[in-house]
Amino acid sequence: MYTEGSPVADTKAPDGPIETRWERRRFGARLVNPANKRKLTVIVVGTGLAGGAAAATLAEAGYRVKSYCYQDSPRRAHSIAAQGGINAAKNYRNDGDSIHRLFYDTVKGGDFRSRESNVHRLAQVSVEIIDQCVAQGVPFAREYGGLLDNRSFGGAQVSRTFYARGQTGQQLLLGAYQALERQIAAGNVEMNARHEMLELIVADGRARGIVVRDLVTGEITTEFADAVVLASGGYGNVFFLSTNAKGCNVTATWRAHRKGALFANPCYTQIHPTCIPQSGEHQSKLTLMSESLRNDGRVWVPLRAGDGRAPGDIPEAERDYYLERIYPSFGNLVPATSPPAPRRTCATRAAVSGPAGSASTWTSPTLSRGSAAPRCRPGTATSSRCTSGSPARTRTRCRCASTRPCTTRWAACGWTTTSSRRSRGSS
Ligand SMILES: Cc1cc2nc3c(=O)[nH]c(=O)nc-3n(C[C@H](O)[C@H](O)[C@H](O)COP(=O)(O)OP(=O)(O)OC[C@H]3O[C@@H](n4cnc5c(N)ncnc54)[C@H](O)[C@@H]3O)c2cc1C
Repeated sequence: MYTEGSPVADTKAPDGPIETRWERRRFGARLVNPANKRKLTVIVVGTGLAGGAAAATLAEAGYRVKSYCYQDSPRRAHSIAAQGGINAAKNYRNDGDSIHRLFYDTVKGGDFRSRESNVHRLAQVSVEIIDQCVAQGVPFAREYGGLLDNRSFGGAQVSRTFYARGQTGQQLLLGAYQALERQIAAGNVEMNARHEMLELIVADGRARGIVVRDLVTGEITTEFADAVVLASGGYGNVFFLSTNAKGCNVTATWRAHRKGALFANPCYTQIHPTCIPQSGEHQSKLTLMSESLRNDGRVWVPLRAGDGRAPGDIPEAERDYYLERIYPSFGNLVPATSPPAPRRTCATRAAVSGPAGSASTWTSPTLSRGSAAPRCRPGTATSSRCTSGSPARTRTRCRCASTRPCTTRWAACGWTTTSSRRSRGSS
């Protein structure tokens, strides 16, 4: 367990060539024989793609599992919202993909902050994950011949994304949920929906249980186990307008951190730069325009700052397809971590025309009109010269209900904190 000030070490990953670390770790890990598995209880907090799959797999392997989530059903975990697809280095398209290339793209797309041994392991197991999902009944898209289809996605120059229309997360979660339900029916998983984990119980430096509240009755109970798996999802509440639900509050992770668990990279807050514009002040969540649109769509901003025209009225010659201009080899598929600087500069050009501060405009055969950055309400947007930042940079400022002044160079204000440009990560 980590205490503040101690050196941070990745003690679980073996040394040596990264390609063989996972195999060696698996071989080196101590095994539990089938008869002993039945004597061991594992608590799994979370029923999303991580927790749902973990609980089902552990139960299938023979452990006794107690599963918790705060939603009214395991299948309401936020994984249900994922759209675009899941990457796997199967190289079905024969376009030069490999485990090493997926590893390389993922490390680069993660701004070189990820643990490389973990990323390599992810690239290795990606190949089998697809087969497991298919076996669970996930209806991935197929070509006419019946083979699994692939599409391209941000951060890659190959087509390696397996998908189920624009609802991949939903279909994956339903697959994991079916596997979980099977184990619940078999009596191997005790499912506790509408229960919130309040505290982690640590004994002798190991997580041995949790304190939970029944969200219906309010009753607080203590649950013990031989091991605790926290699969409680990511954080999203730092941004008001985002695709993350308010429940993505990372409280379980934070409680574990207070008990000594390592907490890394809080900067990894997922933001989607391409969302369907906010329709009014009643709306606190945005709906993702699938990132897969980057295949066929094109991102642009008006050439002229403060251009108030509707996107469809702006002629081709007055559009700046800045991603294609700045990153010719990746174009619109550039990793989400790469473009913030130029996107920020371009964003100031477009933000005046959007109450939600949506900077980029998409065009595609089906999204040619009206799908672009929303326009400011009449009289709500002004443009002023930046006094605190670079004098050369025009700063955009929106007046809105909260009248909170813009504090960033990206035209963020009270109800325009869509954070589109402050993002790291992809869909
Ligand atoms: C709009 C959108 C599109 C996306 N598109 C893609 C994509 O195309 N490809 C891709 O790879 N990823 C995508 N993602 C990201 C991906 O969906 C998530 O990274 C992933 O689903 C997270 O799964 P999870 O199981 O870790 O967490 P979640 O699905 O968020 O599950 C968290 C679980 O933890 C439980 N929980 C949390 N706190 C507590 C607590 N205190 N007590 C009890 N239970 C608790 C919740 O009830 C829930 O069951 C997308 C995300 C969004 C929002």
